[in-house]
Amino acid sequence: MIVSMHTWTTEAMVLTFEDARHRVEVEARGVRPASAEQLPLLEAAGRVLAQDLYADRDFPPFPRAARDGYAVRAADLKELPARLRIIAEIKAGASPEDIPKKMTSGEAAGIMTGAPVPGDADAVVMVEYTSRSDDQVEIGRSIAAGENIVPAGSEARKNDLLVPTGSLLDEAAIAVAASIGRAHLKVFPKPRIAVISTGDEVVPVDAEPGPTQIRNSNSYSLAAQVQCSGAIPVMLPIAPDEPSRLHQLIEQGLQSDLLLLAGGVSMGKYDLVEQVLAGLHAEFFFTGAQIQPGRPIVFGRAGERYFFGLPGNPVSTMVTFELFVRPLLEALSGRRPRKLIFLRARLKSEVKTKTGLKRFLPAILSGEFEQAEVELAGWHGSGDIATTARANCYLVIPSDRARITAGEWVPVLLR
Ligand code: AMP
Ligand code: MG
Repeated sequence: MIVSMHTWTTEAMVLTFEDARHRVEVEARGVRPASAEQLPLLEAAGRVLAQDLYADRDFPPFPRAARDGYAVRAADLKELPARLRIIAEIKAGASPEDIPKKMTSGEAAGIMTGAPVPGDADAVVMVEYTSRSDDQVEIGRSIAAGENIVPAGSEARKNDLLVPTGSLLDEAAIAVAASIGRAHLKVFPKPRIAVISTGDEVVPVDAEPGPTQIRNSNSYSLAAQVQCSGAIPVMLPIAPDEPSRLHQLIEQGLQSDLLLLAGGVSMGKYDLVEQVLAGLHAEFFFTGAQIQPGRPIVFGRAGERYFFGLPGNPVSTMVTFELFVRPLLEALSGRRPRKLIFLRARLKSEVKTKTGLKRFLPAILSGEFEQAEVELAGWHGSGDIATTARANCYLVIPSDRARITAGEWVPVLLR
């Protein structure tokens, strides 16, 4: 839907949380990151991979001993205790000539974790189950063929795809890159995300606020979220509730890869963000979601650029970033889309609310695994950053639940 300045109405497109989220995910699928850059391996950690990583050889490249002990033929351990003759000592990294070419019945080879297992051996007995004297080893328990040996190529075959384009380079992906000899990696550049806070009452962080003014916290919480998501915040000045300056700043913000606005999207007389965007021929995908906090969230596109109009109440700003901005930002970073990750915890004390909105309320999660417990942090509404700072997660309350009893397992969104 295209809304121009002339046809602008305040008619809201309010979606359920699920539909709004889905809408963002659909748009994110069409987003392409900028072209790749090359970085040294360690600098690539935390970035998004812009190439497929393939196995340069079999993993492992040789049958690998998984324990310190003795390489044996399992058939030799049918009658116990078995006494075998030690014909070799194989260290990790042993060169091929140190590995016995032939091992006949009644023979064993001392072997260390990570060392290549001789072809005629089919199991490795842990050193704990053996006793040695001179060139003899006595083994007190039997073993199945294959035990404690990782066969060549069992983890991956040469040329297998190990880590695909779009993966976050976490420690495991970095380990793979190192294992296949990549000292440099192609990664996507970090997207640049413009941040504008709006509001006549909002003053810069280093200004002394007047009695009815407040300092700009939203630009900073958003920038922090942007940074933690692997992108670069571009901080623009605070926009007053006045159309021409707001228009100017929005145009500036649309130069970045994504524009985030905070404030000015509610129904008030001076909530001008949608109107100014409409004047820029913006297309709106939704102008509200049935959630608390964050109901007036706006998502759309102006020309090539996506924007979010996030509600100005500081907790709403933070929560709507988590719920809606992240998928688009990740797509701009070149990352493959993922779903929101919830965990479950037992509710400590009863929660009473109203139906109709899906709620994401600041909460405190404690305990681990089956002892995980969660309770509301006891906020005083979506302006309450003090309580939110004490919380460590959001308790998710489905829109059809007015009461959740203590002891129920409830979904929790981490932050
Ligand atoms: P708005 O969405 O513009 O109606 O703002 C809602 C509430 O959030 C008001 O109480 C604002 O004062 C507050 N607010 C708006 N922008 C900011 C900001 N940048 N930092 C902190 N609070 C803000
Ligand atoms: Mg405002």
